[in-house]
Amino acid sequence: MKVWTEIAALDRDLSALGAIGIGLVPTMGYLHRGHMSLVAAAIKENDVSVVSIFVNPSQFGPGEDLERYPRDLARDCSMLEAAGVDFVFAPAVREMYPHGFVTRVEQGVLGEHLCGRRRPGHFSGVLTVVAKLLGICRPERVYFGAKDAQQAIMVSRMIRDLNMAVKARILPIVRDPDGLALSSRNQYLSSAERERALILPGALRAARRIIDAGERNAATIVCEIASRINAIAGVELEYVEVVGLNDLQPLDLIDPQNTLVAAAVRIGNTRLIDNFMLGEI
Ligand code: AMP
Repeated sequence: MKVWTEIAALDRDLSALGAIGIGLVPTMGYLHRGHMSLVAAAIKENDVSVVSIFVNPSQFGPGEDLERYPRDLARDCSMLEAAGVDFVFAPAVREMYPHGFVTRVEQGVLGEHLCGRRRPGHFSGVLTVVAKLLGICRPERVYFGAKDAQQAIMVSRMIRDLNMAVKARILPIVRDPDGLALSSRNQYLSSAERERALILPGALRAARRIIDAGERNAATIVCEIASRINAIAGVELEYVEVVGLNDLQPLDLIDPQNTLVAAAVRIGNTRLIDNFMLGEI
């Protein structure tokens, strides 16, 4: 496995490989089984696998956790090497955003709700860095997790809207056995906080059961999730929304083929998100 930090070196090596199908997995590192599920698919489905590790400053707002975001490149690289990854791209901030960098991808209407509404500029930062990574690595396929559903949907739309020659593959959420979705941010949680955090997947599971039993009113689903989460002291509900999978706009009625139910909570200083989808991105 080769680790690149410079775009020029990456470019040289990829050009030397000639016409091969590259699978790219963009990450911010501190890898867990969720990331590794994307990595396994990228290895399986492509001639060459590339994993990028870059904590992207342009997707963090003021007061967010950019500085304390967990980082351990050596550990990540040994996990990736053991998995059989071909290349890691781990650039410094200056390599990605050199002096004079000005262009950003606009997030548009898909960024109006869910996390986009609460994290101004976040998705513009995400789309910009993904566009750069696609330009740098020229993959045939790029891999995202459904854990960050809004991100997956917005990136898929950017690829379509801007006619980017890459296929987005969106893979299911990987969870711990108790239901908590894996996240690099879970390690911020104390054990008492982690226990409380289980209400997030628990409330979503309860809502899913009600939908499966025939409920179609989005407001009922929102109330069900909100009341379960609000009942737990020390867990602050940031949002719960029921939106269309395609346009990310609020729904009155649940469409069994086209609905995203997503929520975000704060527990102490930690922000966690989770969701489920009806239909496919
Ligand atoms: P991050 O390092 O948090 O930017 O995540 C990199 C990629 O891994 C994103 O596409 C995430 O959606 C995906 N990912 C993160 N957590 C999970 C999870 N629990 N299950 C599946 N994919 C995940």
